[in-house]
Amino acid sequence: MTHAHADHVMGLDDLRIFGFRMDAAVPIYCEDNVEQHLRQTFAYAFADPGQAAHPYAVPRLRFERVVPNQSFQLLGLPILPLRVKHGRLPILGYRIGNVAFCTDVSTMPAETRGQLTGLDTLVLSALRHKPHPTHMHIDEALRLIAQLKPRTAYLTHMSHEVDYEQLLAELPEGVFPAWDGLTVPLQYDESAAG
Ligand SMILES: [Zn+2]
Ligand SMILES: [Zn+2]
Repeated sequence: MTHAHADHVMGLDDLRIFGFRMDAAVPIYCEDNVEQHLRQTFAYAFADPGQAAHPYAVPRLRFERVVPNQSFQLLGLPILPLRVKHGRLPILGYRIGNVAFCTDVSTMPAETRGQLTGLDTLVLSALRHKPHPTHMHIDEALRLIAQLKPRTAYLTHMSHEVDYEQLLAELPEGVFPAWDGLTVPLQYDESAAG
C-alpha cells in the first residue's frame, strides 16, 4: 500500500478470492496509519468471523508493517519503501529491484531521489497539465524523470482531462502514458547490488 485514499484501497474486498484459494490471510504491506484507516474502512473484514454469513464471505487480511528505507524481501525480490509527499501527507513509493512505483506524489524528497537512480522503469503519477496541490502535473513529472533518467518511464494516475494520443505524441523519448493491462518486467541482479 502507498496510502489509504479511496482510489487506492476500495478494491480490497476483491482480494476475498485470494484468501479463499490460499486458505490463508492475504498480507497487506503498509505503514501503521494506513492499517488504522483500513481497519476502519473494512471493519467487517476484521470483525468476529462468527458474525459473517459464511467463513468465506469476507476477505481474510493480515498486516505486515513496512518502514521507509527499510528494505525487505518478497517473492525473492528486494522491496524498498520510499518516503514521498502527497500534499501534506507523507506516503510511500516503492522500489522493487530495477523498477520503482511512485504514485500520488507532489514532492519527491532529495533523499528519495537519491534512491531512484539506475532504474530500468519508473512508474510515476502525473495528474494533468495544470498544477495541482497534491499531485505532480505533467511538466513537473517530466522534469523529475529527466533528473532521475530511468530507461523507461510510465505516467499514471492521469485525470480525464488528459487525452492519451495527444499526450503520447508530446512525451519525450522513453516516456509513455501507462495503459490498462501494462506489464513491466522485474529484474534484480544481486551481484550489482553490492
Ligand atoms: Zn491519494
Ligand atoms: Zn490517488
